[in-house]
Amino acid sequence: MNKRVEQIRTDALVAKTLYTKRLRVANGFKVAINILIIITPILFIAAQYVTKGTALAGLTDTTAFIGSILLLCLAIYTLSINLDGNIQKNVIGLKNNVYVASEALKLIDEVSDEKLNWFYTYVAEMDTVDADALSNVSEEERQKAYRSALMQLKPGDNSVVCPICGASPFRYTKGNCQVCGNKPVIIQ
Ligand SMILES: [Zn+2]
Repeated sequence: MNKRVEQIRTDALVAKTLYTKRLRVANGFKVAINILIIITPILFIAAQYVTKGTALAGLTDTTAFIGSILLLCLAIYTLSINLDGNIQKNVIGLKNNVYVASEALKLIDEVSDEKLNWFYTYVAEMDTVDADALSNVSEEERQKAYRSALMQLKPGDNSVVCPICGASPFRYTKGNCQVCGNKPVIIQ
C-alpha cells in the first residue's frame, strides 16, 4: 500500500468535509436571504393595507420604511460578499476533492511511476487551491474533519486509527492529539 497516496486520500477527505460544511452554511444563508427578500415586502404591503386609515397607519409606514432600508442594506451586503461566487468556489473545491479521494483509492496499490507522477502533479495543483480556500479553518473544525476523513478512509473497514495517537475515530473522547483531537491511546 502506498502511504503517500493514502495521505493524499486522507487530505482530500478532510477538504471534502470542510467544503461540504461551508457549502451547507452558504446555501442556508442564501435561502434565508431569499426568503427575507420575498416575504418582507409582502408583509409590509399587507400591514399597510390593513392599517390604512387607522391610528396605526403612521407606525406601519415608519416600520415599512426602516424595514426597506434594512433590506436594501442586506441586499448590498450579500452582493459585496459575493455569495454566489463563494458557493461556486466551494462546489468546485468539493468536486475536485471527491475526485482526488476516489482516484487515490484506485491508485493505493499502484506501482507505475508514470501514473503516480501524473497524480502527484495534479494533487499538488489542487492543494494550492485548497490552501487558499480553506485557510481560515479553526483547529477544532479541522480535527473534526480529520476524524470524519479517517472514518471514510477505507470503505467498510472500521479498524482504522489515527496514525499519530492510535485512537479510533469512531470512538471520540476530547483529548490532546493535535491531528484528530482525540484522547491518545497508550500502547504498552
Ligand atoms: Zn489522533
